[in-house]
Amino acid sequence: MNLEKLGIKELQEMLRTEKITREELFLFFQDKIKNGNESINAFVETYSFEDANKTEHPLSGIPVAVKDNIAFTGKKMSAGSKMLENYQAPYDSAVAEIFKEIGAPLLGRTNMDEFAMGSSTETSYYGATKNPLDTLRVPGGSSGGSAAAVAAGMAPYALGSDTGGSIRQPAAYCGVVGLKPSYGAVSRRGLIAMSSSLDVIGPITKSVEDAELVFEAIARHDPLDSTSVPHEERRKFQEKNINGKVIGVPKAFLEREGIAPDVLENFYASLSKMEKSGYRIVDIDLPHLDQALAVYYIVQPAEVSSNMARYDGVRFGFSSDHAGDLLDSYVSTRTKGLGDEVKRRIMLGTYVLSSGYHDEYYYKAQKLRNLITREIQEAFSHVDIIATPTTPHTAFRFGEKKDPLSMYLEDLFTVPYNLSGNPALSIPSGFDQDKLPYSIHFVAPLFCEKKLFEVGKEFESLML
Ligand code: GLN
Repeated sequence: MNLEKLGIKELQEMLRTEKITREELFLFFQDKIKNGNESINAFVETYSFEDANKTEHPLSGIPVAVKDNIAFTGKKMSAGSKMLENYQAPYDSAVAEIFKEIGAPLLGRTNMDEFAMGSSTETSYYGATKNPLDTLRVPGGSSGGSAAAVAAGMAPYALGSDTGGSIRQPAAYCGVVGLKPSYGAVSRRGLIAMSSSLDVIGPITKSVEDAELVFEAIARHDPLDSTSVPHEERRKFQEKNINGKVIGVPKAFLEREGIAPDVLENFYASLSKMEKSGYRIVDIDLPHLDQALAVYYIVQPAEVSSNMARYDGVRFGFSSDHAGDLLDSYVSTRTKGLGDEVKRRIMLGTYVLSSGYHDEYYYKAQKLRNLITREIQEAFSHVDIIATPTTPHTAFRFGEKKDPLSMYLEDLFTVPYNLSGNPALSIPSGFDQDKLPYSIHFVAPLFCEKKLFEVGKEFESLML
């Protein structure tokens, strides 16, 4: 049976009508992993079946794959790093509590760029994940393991985290759907902090409908995460908006250099399909959008340098046995325990926060972040959705982006909405001549994920 092709509702229906048991469903996916993971390396560890709570929830009994930076009590979580190789989560993340309550069994933890820094999953301590559509190419990152697992049919859906694009870009490269929820919609408790003002947990799925089901399950207010937004507050944003069908496109920004012409062509073809089905496409001006990447690569490393300070070899994780004085031990642990990209970010972040440079870099970036955020929120006073491609080109080959700056350019279209907090959805929009997927990227007003799902489902139906 082709269970890997079925959506969550269809799988749920099979469970309900007892065509299959929960354990059989779980074992089906474990079997797919057994056969497929050696060549793809999407999972760093798999688990055996634990008969979870049976509830009426649409995800009950539907197994999930989870990125290696989300805590499940007693399970290892390493964030793809030697630093946390044997670290066991001492408590449940908020999303783990939800999955346990619902009764969705855990298939395994998925590979990722080290500490979620990267766009290719090449920086993982466990080796790169391969793109199931072409194993010479990267699956994207940092949630490359989650995206590859779903694309290869090794999991019906997965959780990832997105700080600058890490759900949407790998979803795009693997031809699946990825949702970055609004900042504050899903609790970050128990997610290993990378850049705390940008990090969001969200789903990678085969369809928009599935993304909606998973989002609805995990978008709970959490009093233990001070940045989690209560539902009354969310409703205030939702009331203001948006029943229209106007799609804003930042044309000037799109037509800059470095975007593959075929990506733009596919994007404009997607828009004209939307136009034919009743949407109005308008040009919008977001004058500071092209500063978003630079702003991100100041704010993000600054927060990284602070969040990574805890990995000192004393409190948890890897500890070098180099027995010098305390400073020696810190240096040796961090030198051996962390990879190049993580070290690069720590150095960048420490630099932009250092006295004398603080105002020039960090504060200036914060000001621009506010400006960009304001421009984006203002755009939503006359459009209902913003659309761009998800990525500037399709999946690239391993080793192709050795220069860190060229890797950072991957985040061009995704990063602005981590800065502003808006929800964004990546949906496959066709294939290039090498059969690699293109994707379209929709952005909605804060806490208006519903609008994304409505437009996303309509777009998917136009692609059939
Ligand atoms: N590629 C981006 C970075 O390396 C985004 C990573 C992410 O979203 N976790 O920072």
